[in-house]
Amino acid sequence: MRQWDKLFYHQSLKTKWTLSTAIVIFISYAAICIVIYIALYSWLLQNEENNAMRTADDLTAFLQSQRGSITIQEIQSNTGLLKAIVNQNQTVRIFNFDGYEVLRINDFSPSAKIDLSDESFLTTITKDEVKEDVFVIHRLVQIGSFQGILQLIHPLSTFQSMMQYVLTAMLIAGIGAVFLAGSISYYLANLLIKPLKDLRDSMDTVRDKGFEEQINFSYNADDEIGDLLTIYRNMMAELQQSFLKQQQFVSDASHELRTPIQAIEGHLSLIKRWGKNDPQVLEESIDTSLSEVARMKKMIEELLDLARNEKKDANATATIETVLGSVQTELQLIYPEAEIVIESSGKQKQVKITENALEQIIRNLIENGIRYNDKKPIIHVHVNYEDDKLILTIADNGIGIAKEHLPHIFDRFYRVDASREHNGGTGLGLSITKMLTEKYSIDMDVKSKLGEGTKFILKFKI
Ligand code: ADP
Repeated sequence: MRQWDKLFYHQSLKTKWTLSTAIVIFISYAAICIVIYIALYSWLLQNEENNAMRTADDLTAFLQSQRGSITIQEIQSNTGLLKAIVNQNQTVRIFNFDGYEVLRINDFSPSAKIDLSDESFLTTITKDEVKEDVFVIHRLVQIGSFQGILQLIHPLSTFQSMMQYVLTAMLIAGIGAVFLAGSISYYLANLLIKPLKDLRDSMDTVRDKGFEEQINFSYNADDEIGDLLTIYRNMMAELQQSFLKQQQFVSDASHELRTPIQAIEGHLSLIKRWGKNDPQVLEESIDTSLSEVARMKKMIEELLDLARNEKKDANATATIETVLGSVQTELQLIYPEAEIVIESSGKQKQVKITENALEQIIRNLIENGIRYNDKKPIIHVHVNYEDDKLILTIADNGIGIAKEHLPHIFDRFYRVDASREHNGGTGLGLSITKMLTEKYSIDMDVKSKLGEGTKFILKFKI
């Protein structure tokens, strides 16, 4: 049995399906046939027995009614009346008590043995199977002065051929049903398994040749398989996009890192050639190289921040005023000329974000307002608590961002004016800000006017 299980287990899904359907249909059909056959068999056999009994009863009733008025000789010479009672294929014999046959109507079956010693032979109906399948009924009869035994033999050949016919019909219909069920389930299995095969082929192709070589599925039905294919398609599209993004990110990162390295390389060669004798070249080159190294260090830190994309801390809370205070102190040290004005309205509440992430977001936005500014930087920060939200606005009086650049400022490595590289910008600050706001479900909006300034509006859920 285990071997059969193993054999079945390793068959294709199509074979399993076809085989199981055929087997289940065959077993159900066989069970129904067996029940019908047994019921039909007992019903028809009972019918035959009733027929035989009825003839025997009719014969004895007739002879009883003629008791005194007719002799055995008269019946012998005229069997017409008895023949009318007896069915065509039944045989009737009358014996005297010595076992001598005195009368016979029809002769389809040979006589059956009469065992006078067994008292019950008169009351039972026996099924004699020695010569052929027949019912035998015995009755005591009296005709005039004659007393004897009437023997009725009822053959079961019609019943048997009928049962044989039923059995053959059932077998033929059964084999037909199994073949039909097998073919239909094979067709259905083919129909339903084809998309799964396509899916497997598509996965194989993607594994071997990459995302470009995807198979298009023709199966569009609105069922579980259709759902599976749609999920697979969407998943592949997402994977492909994230794969492309990753490739783009790696190529952008290496390109961006190459620029400061090339600058440092250039300055080192300059020092090697002229710097030893020219202290001015030496000083300038070392300064530029150091600032490039600082920029590279910042970029690497930011890249690591983006790549790490740490999991959201669902239980974290932070007080915005505390974070604003520490960022303000830190930035005032770096940019003493800048003015950072913080105002707050409404009842103070905590927001669901880690202090570290909130600090990064606020520092990036305020620092950008200071860096991208050609006047004395004044940054207005306003914290407004409402019922279920907190609105934080950071507005600067800087150079502003042109309309066409606004949709791209959150893209990685995007810089509006690459020539302002001396600002130490990497084009990653706002990408990190966006990643953090998305992670903590903070709604971020930006409004800007060239020459007037930029305003970032952040909505936190409380
Ligand atoms: P970076 O690190 O180079 O500053 P960001 O991602 O922070 O990169 O910003 C992307 C670009 O958006 C910057 O190069 C700058 O041109 C523009 N930008 C960002 N914030 C401001 C602002 N407050 N005012 C004007 N321009 C800004």
